[in-house]
Amino acid sequence: MCNGEKVNELEQAQIDFISTVSHELRTPLTSIRGFADTLLTSYDRLSPEQRDKFLHIIKDQSNRLINLVENLLTVSKMQSDKELIIYKSTDVIPYIDAAVQMVKNQYKTHKYITNYQKNLPKILVDTDKFQQILLNLIDNASKYSNEGSTVTVSVGQKFNENSLYISVKDEGIGINEEDIKKIFNKFSRIDSPLTRKIQGNGLGLYITKTLVEKMNGKISVTSSPKGSEFIIEFQAARPDDDAKKKIKE
Ligand code: ADP
Repeated sequence: MCNGEKVNELEQAQIDFISTVSHELRTPLTSIRGFADTLLTSYDRLSPEQRDKFLHIIKDQSNRLINLVENLLTVSKMQSDKELIIYKSTDVIPYIDAAVQMVKNQYKTHKYITNYQKNLPKILVDTDKFQQILLNLIDNASKYSNEGSTVTVSVGQKFNENSLYISVKDEGIGINEEDIKKIFNKFSRIDSPLTRKIQGNGLGLYITKTLVEKMNGKISVTSSPKGSEFIIEFQAARPDDDAKKKIKE
């Protein structure tokens, strides 16, 4: 490919990116402005229930904007060469417990089960990024499943392998085979009557996969109409890993 073509491809990717981001920003902003306008101009004519409903919409849409901006900042940091990965030999269980607790607070009717094998090795990861990966997967498992369903997080070691796997399994809507190929792409959301009702911007799994791979891990997914299972795997840390704690660009 010659340079000219390459520049055009990059330019096109940038134009697509700006257009998607603008759309993602405009939708919640339009809704916030519309409901704020209605509250300002028709406050006395609205019932208390209507006011309450509109205020909740404004709050939900503001949260949607905050999530989008946070995800965009993460993407931009990930793409810059200067992002630091601060590796630390890490016991995964406290991070999983914390992530489950955080997500649980938002999905009060879901049930969460954790299964931990005994004597698990530590893994070498950046703990902030590891926490973000867990939150994304456990949040998705909850978001794309019905109220009252169960999310199971299991951690173990495969026989004879020096790595650790973490599985996040749900009883949700599932992902069909064709769509599995797309879900890790930037801004990729599956369009179906079931997913349309669920808020998201399609950046979570792109961020998750990129972070897992940056820290030398692997991510895979299997799914059926009964639910999905996302598995991440990392090499076990060696005893001397912490001594030569790596900081990589
Ligand atoms: P978001 O949830 O913000 O849309 P993600 O990048 O996290 O973005 O996920 C991309 C898409 O993959 C989602 O829109 C959804 O269609 C699908 N998806 C992700 N996780 C699950 C899951 N556990 N069950 C079913 N579908 C999922």
